[in-house]
Amino acid sequence: MKLIIDNLSKTYANGIEALQNVSLEIPKGMFGLLGPNGAGKSTLMRTIATLQEADSGTVALGDINVLKQKNELRQVLGYLPQQFGLYPKISAEVLLNHFAVLKGITNKSERKNLVKALLHKTNLYDVRKQNLKGYSGGMKQRFGIAQALLNNPKLLIVDEPTAGLDPVERNRFYNVLSELGEHTVVILSTHIVDDVKELCTNMAIINQGQVCLKGNPLQILEELKGKVYKKTIEKSELSFYKQNYKVISEKLFLGKPTIHILSDVNPRDGFTLINAELEDVYFSEIFNHSNSKSI
Ligand code: ADP
Repeated sequence: MKLIIDNLSKTYANGIEALQNVSLEIPKGMFGLLGPNGAGKSTLMRTIATLQEADSGTVALGDINVLKQKNELRQVLGYLPQQFGLYPKISAEVLLNHFAVLKGITNKSERKNLVKALLHKTNLYDVRKQNLKGYSGGMKQRFGIAQALLNNPKLLIVDEPTAGLDPVERNRFYNVLSELGEHTVVILSTHIVDDVKELCTNMAIINQGQVCLKGNPLQILEELKGKVYKKTIEKSELSFYKQNYKVISEKLFLGKPTIHILSDVNPRDGFTLINAELEDVYFSEIFNHSNSKSI
């Protein structure tokens, strides 16, 4: 079973074209939808989750016509939105049990076993009696995953789940997500390159409402082989390099800017060839896409 998005477009009333003919085929496993803030990721996630309408295009999950058969889709959907409220004065165990009742799991012992299994799966079992008020950001996100899994979804959408998590919490969250991919279509929408690097077997980059790259991260990396060069420069030289080279990223290293540039030939001039990382792919796509639009 696959999720097939075909020519999806959405323009908001204020004229912003949040999605422009977006087409993607998303197989089982972990799929990373990567793009900067404002790229259209949430619009796409909410549309697939049947929470808002598109102007045109189709979405199919197996034989479910997602945009028309909303109820059918909702039965097999798990959705963790960017922000969600939780009842603070209740424990994770009680709230999860409550959500399970709402999802129609009426058999008490079945429900108890399911809640227990999900608390284990999301590494919350030891803190299951604590009120959610005392949970850290990462614990809340893992609780979000537990509730999204209650109906054993065929499609799981997680929208910007690691934003705001510290590195330790992010890793715990990755561990939970990495267990899920095999039997489910999991879409992870994020602006954090590491999320995709760690978890995803397929990916797409979206910018200004358009898909600018899709494929397997390893193959995508191959295409940049021999084209990314690095140099540490002085701060005062930055504008010179930006004018004369395709600077795809700049980072401070020990207080000095280190730039990565894209070049088909060796630029010499103190640059060294480096192994491209997914971050270079991301920045070069955003660079090329934004430049081609401004011409
Ligand atoms: P992302 O999730 O990648 O940050 P969004 O889908 O939230 O992107 O937003 C895409 C674009 O659509 C942005 O320019 C945003 O300002 C705009 N946008 C999002 N929601 C609305 C809305 N309800 N009304 C008008 N514009 C919106």
